[in-house]
Amino acid sequence: MISIRNLINGGLVDAISGSRGESVNPATGLVHADFPDSGAEDVDRAVGAAVEAFPTWRDRPVRERAALLRSLADLIDANTDRLARLESEDQGKTLAQATEIEIPRAAANFRYFAGAIEAFSGEMHQMDSQAINYTLRRARGVAGCISPWNLPLYLLTWKIAPALATGNTVVAKPSEVTPVTAGILGELAVEAGFPPGVLNLVHGFGGTVGQRIVEHPDVPTITFTGSTATGQAISRIAGPMFKRVSLELGGKNPVIVCEDADLDDAMDDIVRSAFANQGEICLCGSRILVHRSRLAEFMERFLPRVRGLRVGDPASAESDLGAIVSREHLEKIESYVQLAVEEGGKIACGGNRTGVLPERCRNGFFYEPTVILGLPQDCRTNQEEIFGPVVSVQGFDTHAEAVTKANDVPYGLACCIYTKDLSRAHRMAARIDAGIVWINCWMVRDLRTPFGGWKASGVGREGGKDALHFFTESTNVCLNLE
Ligand code: NAD
Repeated sequence: MISIRNLINGGLVDAISGSRGESVNPATGLVHADFPDSGAEDVDRAVGAAVEAFPTWRDRPVRERAALLRSLADLIDANTDRLARLESEDQGKTLAQATEIEIPRAAANFRYFAGAIEAFSGEMHQMDSQAINYTLRRARGVAGCISPWNLPLYLLTWKIAPALATGNTVVAKPSEVTPVTAGILGELAVEAGFPPGVLNLVHGFGGTVGQRIVEHPDVPTITFTGSTATGQAISRIAGPMFKRVSLELGGKNPVIVCEDADLDDAMDDIVRSAFANQGEICLCGSRILVHRSRLAEFMERFLPRVRGLRVGDPASAESDLGAIVSREHLEKIESYVQLAVEEGGKIACGGNRTGVLPERCRNGFFYEPTVILGLPQDCRTNQEEIFGPVVSVQGFDTHAEAVTKANDVPYGLACCIYTKDLSRAHRMAARIDAGIVWINCWMVRDLRTPFGGWKASGVGREGGKDALHFFTESTNVCLNLE
């Protein structure tokens, strides 16, 4: 049993109430960790500490802030095996996904923003000989960072790193479903030597800790990744308070396979984009749109690949898919597959819970990778986010139809296009209403690029300069030259 604590004002502490919540290992169905079930009073202490630490942190030389970020990155690297094992046990993801992708990316987030802040510069606008304007970019104060359960440390650090780099102090709330690696991050931040109050991590539930961060008058900046429904709830509170809010929300991402797609090249990507991390990545492609001239061939090649995926113990190197994050989420996925059948869909493969070995996984939450055919565009299965190992395949006849179907959902996060005709790919990309369009690839990420969604997928952009701008306020200074 792992017990984690809050990081508040430089100390590792329990909730003031002493109350604790439990985290279940989804591969075994057993409680494996507990965390402080914090309340508003714990958030208030963290915000107080962050307010006090802010002026000194803001004024600290950039190279010193960057050095601390790099120290934390080094400590994450040095603890990769431990963090990856705990992330896998807490979330259900395969150990390989945690070890090879997610924990290295958490370290990369700190390293990238350490470099980005050192290279950051303001703007200057000269008005002939009359005046010069220069624009200062100043830290905003305390940033509230709220993150989800699917890529726990990866997404939490993606928010914390730019906030700290730009001179803000942080009160962060990891998901209560997967709190463990954030608990370790708190320990590593102390070891790295962050001054008290600069980084605070408050564990607990969304309705208490998350909500208090959002409504706290001394937290002017809120960055949130999670469901669209929670994003709406946050907007309702933060909007009238004129807070700056960034929302990274759900997706229903299309994968467009044109008539000239190179399926030899594309198939690995398409399978990965559908089922990586059990489909629990906001960028997963959950609607595959295939040109009707290739639909039969596509299914002949796709289905054996999906049937060949091994669902199993997340700790095993043999497993392609691990466990679904929680019993509730497993039940949600099941209910969507049931709905798909009621809506007239045909299950081409999967569609059931599955038991896996070894014995310790007997009560785990495992679900087969599932492919559904024959559903109309406007049904709920094709419109709503499932966030599991479930994809729907539809045909299209023209590229215009593919673009229309791609856009015809409430979401607009990401899209993949597979074609050999690059002119067509560029034309289509310019008509897709999504924050990211990948051409002949998936999940290739450059941390300098804008990241975010259109429509119900969110507001604002993370990454690169967008993040540095989000966490800073501009002041234009105009100097009379005459
Ligand atoms: P969620 O909205 O239930 O929870 C996210 C976080 O918000 C958690 O820390 C939770 O405790 C907190 N929270 C809940 N209620 C709150 C409230 N009223 N006020 C403040 N905070 C509150 O989301 P989830 O189930 O953890 O994550 C899955 C969702 O996240 C999916 O919809 C997925 O698409 C989305 N997601 C989006 C991105 C992206 O970059 N766009 C990335 C990953 C996940």
